[in-house]
Amino acid sequence: MRNFIFTLSGLLIALVGNLNAQSYQFQQESLPCLNKKFTVVAHIFKDSLGNFGATEADIKQAVEGINPFFEPICASFEVCEFRYHDNWQHDILEDPDTEIPQIRTKYNAEFRINIYFVTTFTSTIGACGLTAGGGIIIRKDCINTGVVAHEMGHFFGLAHTFEGNGTELVNGSNCDTAGDGICDTPADPYVPGEPKENYVNSDCIFISPKTDANGEYYNPDLGNIMSYYDCGTCGFTWGQLERMASNYLNASVKLW
Ligand SMILES: [Zn+2]
Repeated sequence: MRNFIFTLSGLLIALVGNLNAQSYQFQQESLPCLNKKFTVVAHIFKDSLGNFGATEADIKQAVEGINPFFEPICASFEVCEFRYHDNWQHDILEDPDTEIPQIRTKYNAEFRINIYFVTTFTSTIGACGLTAGGGIIIRKDCINTGVVAHEMGHFFGLAHTFEGNGTELVNGSNCDTAGDGICDTPADPYVPGEPKENYVNSDCIFISPKTDANGEYYNPDLGNIMSYYDCGTCGFTWGQLERMASNYLNASVKLW
């Protein structure tokens, strides 16, 4: 196999293409290989009744269950520690924008990926998780692999496939600048908060009559981890994987 040489941040990183990965990637360039196991600290806040409301086994299974999705960029995740916090005020985040930085200042473990499990947080769209200000928040009633993979996608810099809610054109001509800025995720017109049944039927067939600015019908990737359709968790696209890997490799300070 050929070696692909990338120059990143002044480092020469030699990456050896892998035969299986090559065929899986359908003729595309080899993906960068991070060759990195990220360690995760799971923080669990007590509720006002003193209950933690989440088990270590469920968290470990959900977090480590995302590893196959990140395998193409040679990244994996392991929960190295559980930390329990008595501060029930942080178990219900009424103002996440203000409280997440406070939580991080108080509790963040350095050089780790910190995930905070809470009963709920204020969200206009009823989301299961939130990644903001370098912190990952996940609702205790949403601990599953799809949700963790989605938030980890945000953590590594991915937007939703429906970013811009359909400003990305179906023909892909503005895919670099509109939508999620990634060209192998098709344009997705979803508007958070709108009923999902307006977009997909019970068999997960896309039924929205919306059209883009050219009058073309959308055909989004319903199983993409960064979409909102709840139609299975199929994974990331090549472009999403490449973006996450380069965001990590180009980060000036490695905070995990
Ligand atoms: Zn999201």
